[in-house]
Amino acid sequence: MANIVIPPSMLPEDGRFGAGPSKIRTEQVQALDAGATDVLGTSHRQSTVKQIVGGIREGLAEFLQLPDDYEIVLGNGGATAFWDIACASLITRRAAFGVYGSFSAKFAASAASAPFLEEPVIYRSEPGTCRLPEYTEYVDAYCWAHNETSTGVAAPVRRIDGSREQGALTIIDATSAAGALPVDIAQTDAYYFSPQKAFGADGGMWIAALSPAAIDRAYGIEHSTSLEGVLRWIPPFLSLKSAIENSRKDQTLNTPAIATLIMLHEQVQWLNNNGGMAWATARCAKSASLLYQWAERSDYARPFVADPALRSNAVVTVDIDERINAKQIVTTLRENGILDTSGYRKLGRNQLRFGVFPSVEPADVAALTACIDYVAERL
Ligand SMILES: *Cc1c(COP(=O)(O)O)cnc(C)c1O
Repeated sequence: MANIVIPPSMLPEDGRFGAGPSKIRTEQVQALDAGATDVLGTSHRQSTVKQIVGGIREGLAEFLQLPDDYEIVLGNGGATAFWDIACASLITRRAAFGVYGSFSAKFAASAASAPFLEEPVIYRSEPGTCRLPEYTEYVDAYCWAHNETSTGVAAPVRRIDGSREQGALTIIDATSAAGALPVDIAQTDAYYFSPQKAFGADGGMWIAALSPAAIDRAYGIEHSTSLEGVLRWIPPFLSLKSAIENSRKDQTLNTPAIATLIMLHEQVQWLNNNGGMAWATARCAKSASLLYQWAERSDYARPFVADPALRSNAVVTVDIDERINAKQIVTTLRENGILDTSGYRKLGRNQLRFGVFPSVEPADVAALTACIDYVAERL
């Protein structure tokens, strides 16, 4: 393969376009330095760290325009852990899932494997499209992903008609959406995410905006020793009630990664100081549209998601004509310092994928498209 060197003047200032872990801004790393001797390496049960957790909870409530009776709850283990927490602590008997990619499938698989839950009802559609769960009798939770990171599809977030009347919860995987896509939290009961996507911190934690109904459900499940005759053991690590009670004290059940907390806190402040959700989502929309427009114009690339209304402004996927091997583009970009542009491996397409979270500069996205053209012309 020819060694292609992109002229330095064409390169983006920052070459990180991953869908997660994603770009961490310099100011977030400087915040680590600022806390190098009095926050890092100190007790998470003391006020210094608890104030950071409190700042994250307050800042996220502001950013998400949280209804007054909702709460920000957090714990260790990432969104993946929250799937099991939801199975243990939020789904009473039976859940319905929208499945249209790897991440939405994983939560459904977790529920399917829980011996104390009934077989979930799956509403499935092809990768690159989206399907919400439909109203189903005897379902007590409706679950889908706001942003399907594996395909670059953004799904609507609104309660399923009739779901409230039947007392069902709406549980939304917002891992790569929160911070990048607009949302009305009142349409959800649990809107959960991890810090390493739009919040540009490190992984290892989950954060959830919970409604009073979700909190009631968690307490109800944990306090009933028998749910219609079925005994359920809730492993202490998967107890949402315990996470709620710790979060109310600005703590986590067990030791958190303090560096992640510091970087998350800095990012939430940065987002709020710049104009909050309206600013962040407009910035992501700008970056994404630069990529979609470039792909539409290009004679070798096209947006993977056919329906423009479903194209994500957080994670952009672009199919590459079979004449050019997308893997070679990815490798060449990486050699030139442009990182993590490959498609989702299990999707198996000749594809590029880009995280365009708020930390990414739209000007860098414009530079990225020029660099891809430069490489493609020479492959
Ligand atoms: C990244 C991602 C996850 C997994 O998050 P972890 O923090 O690695 O557990 C789950 N759902 C979606 C939509 C994601 O993008």
